[in-house]
Amino acid sequence: MLTSTTTKNIFFQNYILIFVVSLGLSSCAKEELTSVQNATVVDNDLQIYFSLFEEEGKIRGVTINLTAANISGELVEIRQANIAGQCSVNTGTGRKVVRIDATYWANASALEREFVIFHELGHCFLERTHVDARDIRGSCESMMHSGVGDCQFRYTLASRTAYLDELFN
Ligand SMILES: [Zn+2]
Repeated sequence: MLTSTTTKNIFFQNYILIFVVSLGLSSCAKEELTSVQNATVVDNDLQIYFSLFEEEGKIRGVTINLTAANISGELVEIRQANIAGQCSVNTGTGRKVVRIDATYWANASALEREFVIFHELGHCFLERTHVDARDIRGSCESMMHSGVGDCQFRYTLASRTAYLDELFN
């Protein structure tokens, strides 16, 4: 959890973090965030996955315009340990931000990058909450798993389509 000083709280007041996904997929929590953004901008490195999210939704009959939805994407060093991504909302303006940890990103595979972006957009755009259900093999039934449940998440080229179907439907 973020521990902040009174001084720092001046900058935190407008943002409430709604969900995070950790590096080890081991925690998700409500927290406050440290910066304020006033324009809807997506980091170039993240844009391909934002566009892919829109395309995969469209394939499944879900119309998505992340720019119109005021969802930004930032690649930053997240101070809290073991946090790969966060979805936050400015309670005053309604603007939302997906923040991805730069260190995690630098070491992540394409599928891991897609997963963390899609999971956070699952919160930020689809307004989904966590699902920790598992199938008879113990696999997570959703990429919206919390990371603190006991299901096993295996996001592969073989499992990807089913997970995306579940995400958007
Ligand atoms: Zn989450």
